[in-house]
Amino acid sequence: MTQSISGKTTLDWDAFAAELAPVETITEPVLVKKRSRDFFWYSPILNAQLRRSFGDLVARPANTDDLAHCLRTAYAHDAPVTLRGGGTGNYGQAVPLEGGLIIETTAMNRILEIGEGFVRVEAGAIIEDINTALHAEGWELAIFPSTQDIATIGGFIGGGSSGIGSLAHGMLRDPGNVISLKAMTVTDTPEERLFEGDAINQIHHAWGMNGVITEVTLRTVPHRNWIGCMATFETYRDAYAAGYALATADGIAPILASTVDARICAYFPRLAEYLRPEKHLLTALVPAEDLDAYRALMSAQGGHVDLAMSEDELKAAGLPHVFEFAYNHTTLQVLKADRSATYLQVGCPTPPDPDAIDALRPKLGDDVWQHHEFALLGGQIVTFDLPIVWFTTEERLHEIEATYEANGFPVFDAHTCMVEKGGLKNADYRHLAWKKRMDPKGLLNSAKSRAWESVKHLSPEDIETFTPPEDA
Ligand SMILES: Cc1cc2nc3c(=O)[nH]c(=O)nc-3n(C[C@H](O)[C@H](O)[C@H](O)COP(=O)(O)OP(=O)(O)OC[C@H]3O[C@@H](n4cnc5c(N)ncnc54)[C@H](O)[C@@H]3O)c2cc1C
Repeated sequence: MTQSISGKTTLDWDAFAAELAPVETITEPVLVKKRSRDFFWYSPILNAQLRRSFGDLVARPANTDDLAHCLRTAYAHDAPVTLRGGGTGNYGQAVPLEGGLIIETTAMNRILEIGEGFVRVEAGAIIEDINTALHAEGWELAIFPSTQDIATIGGFIGGGSSGIGSLAHGMLRDPGNVISLKAMTVTDTPEERLFEGDAINQIHHAWGMNGVITEVTLRTVPHRNWIGCMATFETYRDAYAAGYALATADGIAPILASTVDARICAYFPRLAEYLRPEKHLLTALVPAEDLDAYRALMSAQGGHVDLAMSEDELKAAGLPHVFEFAYNHTTLQVLKADRSATYLQVGCPTPPDPDAIDALRPKLGDDVWQHHEFALLGGQIVTFDLPIVWFTTEERLHEIEATYEANGFPVFDAHTCMVEKGGLKNADYRHLAWKKRMDPKGLLNSAKSRAWESVKHLSPEDIETFTPPEDA
């Protein structure tokens, strides 16, 4: 028997791999360790906690029969299971904290059906491949993450929340954005269950703890010729005000509006020949037919349009998608040059208030550089801040978080790998009741939920009505 790679399990992983045949497995320790990581290293706190957490074996099921075989075998041996798509999560969601089996879904990647306003796909499909297939039929995904080139759709539903398109179509969890999904149970006879309507949110954003998503049907919208636009402004307040004006303008239908502090733009070398130096940036995606209206609006807001290119023109110029300077790609651009940067996730007062953003800036200090995303939440335009923070100590990081909170900006912890406090502010007992139904032994990524430990022995019905002790 070979030694466990994780050092946390006592199973014979060679025998386990043999039992999984003919499912493809990866046993080479270097490769297993690689597939035990995601983008948790954005956070120096998570990096210290997670960089030595590994799985023991990787399986790559090619279809639902293979997947059922993996889950049945894991159930029989009480083996911890971590699901993995593209591994682009930021909080170590796909890191196996208890060792065990990593199931990588990327071979389950078929596009099953494209119809009027929907696409049905297997969970391991890469999002860019879905969009490419849709474009050929005149459609596109209503919402997709800036990581579309490497992320899977199952990982986006399991770990993501919003992205390009959220400015027009809201959050993933909003009714109609995910039309239905199928998820497989982890039992001695794994079976697929269909989730529709409100029930989808019992599996969405559960970080792979509530069953294995096998198939997703998503909302699509007519494909448009999107122009990647970048306008620059003298002050951050002006850029933010222009972002809000763009998000609410009649006759312009953007799917992305993102403002970036000038100091961050200095870390975008590929844009150096396009962007005016030392100016604050508003990045947007607007339909080609709205470009004149967009230019007029930017000018009225005191901005200068530095770049306006279609996807084809960007490609011809050797430039990436403009959304690779938005969402958590903004942080990545800085981290490529300097690993001492990190970030926060912060909510903002609604409706967006340029004066409130401006008033906060001096209070935050020179080690915090703002970056806001505009999105539609509950029918209203909102913003959230994903600032670059120059990390010195945990104490300073918490001080910055406290400054945000004290000024009415709620912080969502980006430095925890627990679903409670980070992805969700509080424990979601309806989620955990579904975990008990889908994964009765608690094999799926359970160490990512603090609340699971206190309810795992209860029935799903009792978990749903569970009231935590006051100090929990
Ligand atoms: C540069 C950068 C930019 C980003 N931009 C965005 C953005 O615009 N919007 C956004 O929401 N997020 C964003 N993220 C976070 C992340 O990339 C997205 O959520 C992404 O879609 C995750 O997909 P993935 O395939 O990489 O998932 P993974 O990281 O592999 O998995 C994410 C979670 O889902 C679970 N999971 C994976 N597959 C399944 C399955 N089949 N069934 C059930 N659970 C499963 C995993 O266990 C894990 O908990 C960004 C991250 C980075 C590093």
